[in-house]
Amino acid sequence: MKTLRNVLSESEKSRTAVGHFNISDLVALKAVAEAARGLKVPVIVGVSEGEREFVGVRQAAALVRSIREEFDLPIFLNADHTHSLAKAVEAAKAGFDSVVFDRSTLPFAENVSETKKAVEALKAINPSIIVEGEIGDIGSGSEIHDSTPESSRILTKPDEAKQFVASTGIDVLAPAVGNMHGLLRSMVRGEVHKRLDIARISEIKAATGVFMTLHGGSGTDDNDLRNAIQAGMNVVHINTELRLAWRRGLEKALSDQPNEVAAYKILPVAVEAVKSVVTGRLQLFRGSAARVAG
Ligand SMILES: [Zn+2]
Repeated sequence: MKTLRNVLSESEKSRTAVGHFNISDLVALKAVAEAARGLKVPVIVGVSEGEREFVGVRQAAALVRSIREEFDLPIFLNADHTHSLAKAVEAAKAGFDSVVFDRSTLPFAENVSETKKAVEALKAINPSIIVEGEIGDIGSGSEIHDSTPESSRILTKPDEAKQFVASTGIDVLAPAVGNMHGLLRSMVRGEVHKRLDIARISEIKAATGVFMTLHGGSGTDDNDLRNAIQAGMNVVHINTELRLAWRRGLEKALSDQPNEVAAYKILPVAVEAVKSVVTGRLQLFRGSAARVAG
């Protein structure tokens, strides 16, 4: 079975990206796994601190491992946005493949020293674990926002990124390049799309030479996503789009079957709704939708 590092190296060579999808229940997990199996592509399942508090840290690890083994699917588990060393260590001990250690709200020097400490502690538990660090502000909360946070306009500087990577020893960098967590109401309606600074992504890639993740990918212009991947993004995170599909699927199932009480008869509609979003995004990240869309 390929490791996450193998999969990231392959994405670097093929200039494609690995899809990262957050889950907080079996509905979303089934949708992500079925979509990846259908397309025969690797995939990363993410659980933030809040998501894994609900699913359970060891339970998330056991569920993903069981899918990997049963279907021989390169499916990996990431501890998304982890704000303390204790939570990062807990995930590493449970067998997570990667950790996003996020102290990006701290001043630069403190972010560097805390991230460096986390890299050392996590690699001591599992030498092959992938550690991702973050600089710059991409907002918080994969939700529906009323307005754009002011901080989302501050982009990561290439020289700062270079220094951050060199002093921390991280495997993956999450920069701020116009991306933002969550969706604005206008984006939910499809009227507005997020735009990325592609030149800045290329500059940061050239300065650091490390794997890079694009957070807050939901609602981003499709061509910007394709160009961001060409410019060096190896992983793209999608969360809010899945949450939206989950809710809409669930609402439809409940209103279509007002007398049904068996969860296993109601929830497949939500699985299909989420799966269709994941499939579309995975196709785009692999470059196949680029040809379809011209
Ligand atoms: Zn994120």
